[in-house]
Amino acid sequence: MSILPLSILCALTAYAQLNDSTSLAEVEFAQLTQRDPNPLGEKALSINPTQWKHGETEHFIYHFVHSYIATPVSVEAEFHYRVIAKELERNQPATDTKSHVYVFETAQDWAQFQGLGELEKWTGGIHSGGSLFIVRNPKQKFSGNALGHEIVHLVIHRFYPDGVPLWFNEGIAQFISKSATSSYQRARGYISKPHSIAIALDDLIPLPLLVNATRVPNDHVETFYNESERLVRFLAAEDKASFLLFLDALGRHQPFETALSRNYAGKFPTSAVLEEKFREYASKDFGTTLQQADAD
Ligand SMILES: [Zn+2]
Repeated sequence: MSILPLSILCALTAYAQLNDSTSLAEVEFAQLTQRDPNPLGEKALSINPTQWKHGETEHFIYHFVHSYIATPVSVEAEFHYRVIAKELERNQPATDTKSHVYVFETAQDWAQFQGLGELEKWTGGIHSGGSLFIVRNPKQKFSGNALGHEIVHLVIHRFYPDGVPLWFNEGIAQFISKSATSSYQRARGYISKPHSIAIALDDLIPLPLLVNATRVPNDHVETFYNESERLVRFLAAEDKASFLLFLDALGRHQPFETALSRNYAGKFPTSAVLEEKFREYASKDFGTTLQQADAD
């Protein structure tokens, strides 16, 4: 009898967790363990009302048309939940409230719904009040980490129910979904590594503007996402324990400057000190072959 090397055991475990050949079980609406208090949920289900089926997993409830579309969504959702909980060192929050995910399948239904919420243009999803609305065309796969990105928003909403600043919400969604997407693909035998995009020094959004933004600036969409991701990555890498305390403070709506000076006192007593170090980090590797090889 031979003992399997640890790496193979890990791969097998990952495979077992990711094995989505078992399709998501359908549950009658009346049998779902929780209702969505979000009025947008009710509006979604009123579009072609007879088409909707329902199902649930440990942390999410799904409303969908075909289970073969919803099944991979549910696998990816639970996978991301585990990655975020681990990254933020959180177990299940005090409540066991599940997040609702609505999966539309036709352009017509989606067009009817779309005007009701604020679309995240880059992913094509609408995240509202802890629920996620997406359209999945059976013929067209969600690109890269777009679904994962939206799922991170859902989980962040559960962990920080009072809301977090935009830069942090978008930055962590990019940071986690990129690394999760690569490990997800690696577990399925694809070669993949996470990308973090360096930014030209001249293009960087000044830190005070970045951390106080309440909307993604229309003329700097890509920079906003990339720079937010690098800021999250930088703060987490500098000191993980401080990072988690800093996030809790932001989740309690403490101003950036206060949260920073209280939790990173030894390193970044002011945001000016942080900005100087961060600019160097954010633009590192820009324009080098490493960056080019790394770019999507
Ligand atoms: Zn987002």
